[in-house]
Amino acid sequence: MPSSPLPDYRDPCGWNRMLAPRAPGPSAEGTIRARYAIVGAGYTGLAAARRLRELDSSADIVVLEGTEIGEGSSGRNSGFANPRDSKIGLSTTQMDRAEKLNEFAAEGFAYLLEAMERGGFSCDLERTGRITGAATELGAEKIRSMAEGAQSHGFAHEFLDAGGMESKTGSRYYRCGIRTEEGYLLQPAALIRGLADSLPAGIRLFENSPVLGLERGTGWTLRTARARIEAEHVILATNAAIKHFGFWRDGLVTIYTYAGITEAMAPADAEHLGVPAWGLLPAHRLGTTVRRIGADRMMVRSFYAYEQPIEPARARDALTGCFHRRYPMLRHVELEHVWGGTTALTMNGSPRWGQLDAGLYGSAGCNGSGLVKGTVLGKRLAEMIVTGDPQEALQAVYGRANRIAPEPFRTLGFHIISALERRKAGAEM
Ligand SMILES: Cc1cc2nc3c(=O)[nH]c(=O)nc-3n(C[C@H](O)[C@H](O)[C@H](O)COP(=O)(O)OP(=O)(O)OC[C@H]3O[C@@H](n4cnc5c(N)ncnc54)[C@H](O)[C@@H]3O)c2cc1C
Repeated sequence: MPSSPLPDYRDPCGWNRMLAPRAPGPSAEGTIRARYAIVGAGYTGLAAARRLRELDSSADIVVLEGTEIGEGSSGRNSGFANPRDSKIGLSTTQMDRAEKLNEFAAEGFAYLLEAMERGGFSCDLERTGRITGAATELGAEKIRSMAEGAQSHGFAHEFLDAGGMESKTGSRYYRCGIRTEEGYLLQPAALIRGLADSLPAGIRLFENSPVLGLERGTGWTLRTARARIEAEHVILATNAAIKHFGFWRDGLVTIYTYAGITEAMAPADAEHLGVPAWGLLPAHRLGTTVRRIGADRMMVRSFYAYEQPIEPARARDALTGCFHRRYPMLRHVELEHVWGGTTALTMNGSPRWGQLDAGLYGSAGCNGSGLVKGTVLGKRLAEMIVTGDPQEALQAVYGRANRIAPEPFRTLGFHIISALERRKAGAEM
């Protein structure tokens, strides 16, 4: 078992650094009793906390976060939120499932919007649409098939040739792309701070309080360095870090991925950044995500590392290369912030979710789209706990995550697959 239960975040989160400093809330101390204790204050944990409070208004709820708000992966991501767009290029049977998945996504997104409105905070949420861009012939094939799917399903879209991509993004790097109307961008650290700082009364949030151990008695006892928390129900909303507690070790992989934000650019440089607001996802899953931030900065996200973080200098070089290849005219522009974060992958993309034991629950494995998915999974987990509804519809649509091959085959398999996929991805990276 690793000595720290937390992901090895290493560098501070750039998004969080770009906001005004925030004093973290108190750490857990002494003996604390609550009906519900939630471990992890990411999107999943905070959605679960809010929903528990809505459904069980007299309950005492405790949330324990190992780091400070904004420094977990919920503050470290690229800030793409997509409530309804998994339709394109899918066959008819997949379309049925996509429709149902979209309903859950829409629910998660609406729950976030409601929290923003009630909490009265801003996270620079903007409906920008979403571009998927291709820099290789293989990627271009995928874009063409997405465009065909969109056409046949009557889904509003815009096919962009190389010139169209350049006018949208300012970059000549891409052969083509597709832009769909659905798609939002936001400042993820502002979102998670806003969610945490506007939690309803009755929810106590403790920061810098990593939970080190979990024991079963009449209820559950959680142990931090300075506190003992006794609760009737515990939710482990720690994403892949749930493996620390011995759960889903053969069902989840921790992936570290990296992001960087440029320094603020001079107006003459910022003229190369395309239309005012856009975000681009790559045609290949190992490719590079790019988005414009405000008037004068860009963000790039790329690179995947299996279970262990990479050296910060290596991440910086890789991301700088990604940025400069796309914007050779901006070779003098540097990345001001570079950081890594984690996401939890399952073999078939289905999350790990549900009851682990009497009074013990978990949710993990959002496979890189946890902003909306984590929100709906946390919300529905709370509903299952309070109402007893097993959430069969949700489980049927998301499916069950497969087991992953045991070690040493797992690590070997990951390295082989990722080497093959990297070759395929080529210039999409
Ligand atoms: C660079 C990057 C880019 C990404 N881009 C996107 C994107 O654009 N859109 C999108 O939807 N998703 C994106 N993701 C994925 C997204 O960030 C995750 O899916 C999401 O954060 C999952 O939310 P969560 O609440 O389940 O887990 P987390 O956000 O990981 O939250 C779990 C929390 O639990 C805490 N924790 C862990 N162990 C303990 C413990 N023992 N005690 C106490 N606390 C503990 C952690 O510190 C963490 O804050 C990206 C991820 C990364 C790293």
